[in-house]
Amino acid sequence: MKKYSGHKIKSVDPGSIADQLELEPGDVLLTINGQEVEDIFDYQYKLNNDRVTVEVLKKNGEDWELDIENDYSDLGLNFENGLMSDYRSCSNDCVFCFIDQMPPGMRDTLYFKDDDSRLSFLQGNYVTLTNMSDHDLQRIITFHLAPINISVHTTNPELRCRMLHNRFAGEALKKIDTLYEADTPMNGQIVLCPGINDGEELERTIRDLTKYVPVMQSLSVVPVGVTKFRNGLYPLRCLTPEEAGRTIDQIERWQKKIYAEHGIHFVQASDEFYLLAGRPLPEAERYDGYIQLENGVGMLRLQHEEAASALEPLRDDGKKEKVTIATGLLAAPYIEKIAKAVMARFPGREIRVIPVKNRYFGSQITVSGLLTGQDIRDALLSLDLGNRLLLPCSMFRSGEEVFLDDMTRTELSDALGVRVDIVPEGGDSLVEAMLSPVRKNLPGENPYEPEDGGVPEPGENTGRRNPAE
Ligand code: SF4
Repeated sequence: MKKYSGHKIKSVDPGSIADQLELEPGDVLLTINGQEVEDIFDYQYKLNNDRVTVEVLKKNGEDWELDIENDYSDLGLNFENGLMSDYRSCSNDCVFCFIDQMPPGMRDTLYFKDDDSRLSFLQGNYVTLTNMSDHDLQRIITFHLAPINISVHTTNPELRCRMLHNRFAGEALKKIDTLYEADTPMNGQIVLCPGINDGEELERTIRDLTKYVPVMQSLSVVPVGVTKFRNGLYPLRCLTPEEAGRTIDQIERWQKKIYAEHGIHFVQASDEFYLLAGRPLPEAERYDGYIQLENGVGMLRLQHEEAASALEPLRDDGKKEKVTIATGLLAAPYIEKIAKAVMARFPGREIRVIPVKNRYFGSQITVSGLLTGQDIRDALLSLDLGNRLLLPCSMFRSGEEVFLDDMTRTELSDALGVRVDIVPEGGDSLVEAMLSPVRKNLPGENPYEPEDGGVPEPGENTGRRNPAE
């Protein structure tokens, strides 16, 4: 028998084909149709057949070969490694890499530099294409995986090599052509570094990428994040308000042109540009359906719209409560506007918004998602916080109640002597959390559904962040 390392089964869905075939946790999937399984996408592709032969190494050492009529359905197997493969790390050394600017002593996983196209399809990560082989590219096309999110940064090959510190980074741009020719939906991203890829270089990049519209469906421009831990790194600075304003003008010029030709705006400046330049946020229609929310593009506009429609049908219930919301400096003025609208409709509610300065990473970092528990604790320690403290879920590790510095929600709650509620994503959730305690907020569940007799407690959150770029 040929030896395969295989994929260890973590669980079997009750009632599934695998369950009926008496497969169990601890068994190892060796092959499908006599071939090894490369990863989760290869697994799904190989299963997409009305008849498959699956070879399994049972816990007791027996080798089972199962002929399965699976009617194109999932077998009901879950594997210990969800990707069914190791994560691929990046081969770059980008001048703007956020991970290089993180303080020492944080949990190991935060320092992992992934650049794995499979994570683009599974969780929306952006990839540079520099470590993608022709085999990987072909698989994306064959398996019809989409959309692929690409960190372009610049279309100037020589500049891309310098920015990514990788001599293959310019050449890697040709893979965009291959994806385009195969009609693979793409999204692009540019981390804008003043004096490097802005101005004329940005002009060139947008112009070059418009030829991929509408297969490339969006292009976000986000400002580089600079922490206080840049010792020994390439000299980088944040954008000034004037530079942010000029970039907005440049992008909005392109939006008009591209909209006239293709009916989409395509290129968008992230919310940070508008806040930094002191400009009003674009109207909702300009975001083409909010394709790049995870990059902070249109998040504040959407939150505002969602909050307004959630508030619209509500009427004062006469209740009185004082609550506090802590948030990053960036979003604070917008949260404040929503709080004022809620207080106008519910006069008994007192909602105080506290912008928290990021001392951990440095004051230039103003997003809520990079605030730590200790900064929040220090900022709020001497304040009267009322009945509850509300915190956006973006401050917490996805699916957990843990801040970036490993402080937990409970530890913060104990330190401040106040109940801490984690507010799920969305302006509607924010309005609801302002008005009533957040219940268990597991992803996919309605956090406000009444629970019989249980004390409402916030639980896992759905916040996501991609601090790498
Ligand atoms: S920014 Fe991304 S691709 Fe560049 S070095 Fe950091 S993790 Fe790697």
